Amino acid sequence: MNRRSFLKTSATGAASLLQPWPRDLFAANAKSRLRPSDPAWPSNKEWKRLNDAVGGNLIPVDFSIGGCVSSPADTCKDLFSNLKNPYYIGDAPGLTQTSGWVDAWTSKPSVYAVAARSAQDIAAAVKFAREHNLRLVVKGGGHSYQGTSNAPDSLLLWTRHMHDIRLHDNFVPQGCGATHVPQRAVTVGSGAYWLQAYDAVTSKGGAYVQGGGCTTVGVAGLIQSGGFGSFSKHYGTAASALLEAEVVTADGKIRIANACTNPDLFWALKGGGGGTFGAVSKLTLRVRDLPEFAGGASFHVQASSDDAYRRLIRQFVGFYREALFNDHWGEQAHFSPDNKLEISMVHLGLTTEESQKIWQPFLDWLAQSPSAYTLAPNRIIGGMPFRYWWDVDWRKEHHHPVFRADSRAGASPNKVWWNGDSGQVGWVVWGFESLWLPASLLKDDSQEKLANALFAASRISEVELHFNKGLAGAPPEAIAAAKDTATNPAVCDAFALAIVADGQGPAYPGFAGHEPDVAEGRKAAVTVHHCMNELRALAPLGGAYVSESNYFESDFQRSYWGANHARLAQIKKKYDPDGLFFVHNGVGSELWSPDGFTRL
Ligand SMILES: Cc1cc2nc3c(=O)[nH]c(=O)nc-3n(C[C@H](O)[C@H](O)[C@H](O)COP(=O)(O)OP(=O)(O)OC[C@H]3O[C@@H](n4cnc5c(N)ncnc54)[C@H](O)[C@@H]3O)c2cc1C
Repeated sequence: MNRRSFLKTSATGAASLLQPWPRDLFAANAKSRLRPSDPAWPSNKEWKRLNDAVGGNLIPVDFSIGGCVSSPADTCKDLFSNLKNPYYIGDAPGLTQTSGWVDAWTSKPSVYAVAARSAQDIAAAVKFAREHNLRLVVKGGGHSYQGTSNAPDSLLLWTRHMHDIRLHDNFVPQGCGATHVPQRAVTVGSGAYWLQAYDAVTSKGGAYVQGGGCTTVGVAGLIQSGGFGSFSKHYGTAASALLEAEVVTADGKIRIANACTNPDLFWALKGGGGGTFGAVSKLTLRVRDLPEFAGGASFHVQASSDDAYRRLIRQFVGFYREALFNDHWGEQAHFSPDNKLEISMVHLGLTTEESQKIWQPFLDWLAQSPSAYTLAPNRIIGGMPFRYWWDVDWRKEHHHPVFRADSRAGASPNKVWWNGDSGQVGWVVWGFESLWLPASLLKDDSQEKLANALFAASRISEVELHFNKGLAGAPPEAIAAAKDTATNPAVCDAFALAIVADGQGPAYPGFAGHEPDVAEGRKAAVTVHHCMNELRALAPLGGAYVSESNYFESDFQRSYWGANHARLAQIKKKYDPDGLFFVHNGVGSELWSPDGFTRL
């Protein structure tokens, strides 16, 4: 079948698609979902019906990589540089921000995509997938490391074009008039990426919304992950800021979910995992006052020997506990086999002088041992007006080379991403593990143990501590709000999320000169695991962040959601009893084959 021709040839109107059908006509009880090779795969006429129902927004999914694998052409030369541009990837329904994971998954396109413009489009796609027993997959920003917004032979619900943003001064969730006071909020289309929200709320609006660190991550994906931004140590998880969602559930109904209406679904959407409970069409998030200043500390220290490095880590652990373990400081410290300590932290609410004063004792300690420690000259510790954190023009004017920009002809200069995220654009993962580290490890009598474990792990691979992804040290209000989400409660007791990961740049099987290095990838996965085991020995039940974790996470239900999993499983059964929404290692995924096509 010529996939491009069906839209022109069939003449059935939209009305018939929208007719209700008896529940037992659903193919829900069928064991296997259909693939294009199945005789029962929808006919051109039926696809045309869907296309009419979604206002002509059904598109065959183009897959530039596949074309270049099968018949390399001159135009393919640019493909791999484009795959280092998250906006190029984000604009292509067939591509994903992670190109794959060795021995786990490889990016492959859906057959068709509904490039949705409204909740009604989403509802039509959900009903069609259900009626025809199709594998449905939802994609927003496309950043899933685990390939959960990607499924070959599927119908894709693509929300990229749904990025309207509206600020409210007095928002009350529907049905909450009697219990909720009006508050500032922002309603964001589910296909928006975070930079679009920050531009509206912070750069233009002078206020704050809790989102993700990476500018191109999708709003809906991150909220459902229970994700974190650089300032989460103060404001809490992004999911905690959700006030209301509009969501299409598996029965095709457009529902409102908030604390008063469908509160169980609302709770599940706050960290229960993307692509699992329904397809979100828009989200309303809490807006807060913006502190005057934000800033950071960015430098690295080279130790001259293993012994000096061990002492450096011990000193840093104590210093972190004393000076940085509070809601001002987030982001990262890295410990690596070459005996380098890399600090890449951000702060909020401090001036340049205040932030420098905080670090001075640590810098003094280093200065006492010049033969043991070399501080790289390009040290930055300081603050800036928070209002301009995501302001591309201001950053340019003030010579802050922190962003890379979409270099395609005609691209808006506001399409940027942090330099620090560049290594992950289009990458192939070799290994990735995370672990929440309880704050009890920072107690006086545990610091030595923690420092030794970090040193031992750093002998094997680079270890990153993401302080903003553990909420111990956050204000009680932020912790209480996170406890009212589906995320593993371990996040509330953790001072940091440890991450160990490795991978290579954009690559694709069969693409000569750009293939995944499977042998290196397998070796790296073992190394990553051994490295994390050094920390796991201290926190065997630490848990992992669902969206930044191992594809092969053992006991993923406990790791991602802890005691919350049982409630999530009930909610899944209530809103999606037939498992229309399936993602790898999602709630309810145990009932399906790994590809989500066959009910077990
Ligand atoms: C480079 C990079 C940087 C990252 N930085 C951070 C960070 O700073 N902080 C952090 O916490 N995490 C971070 N992550 C992890 C990221 O937040 C999660 O992977 C998140 O789920 C991605 O959302 P997305 O919409 O971009 O991705 P997608 O792959 O499109 O979606 C992720 C999941 O959500 C589902 N989904 C998406 N949209 C909808 C919708 N409208 N309705 C229902 N389900 C939907 C998808 O089906 C999929 O299962 C990062 C990931 C990458 C690759």
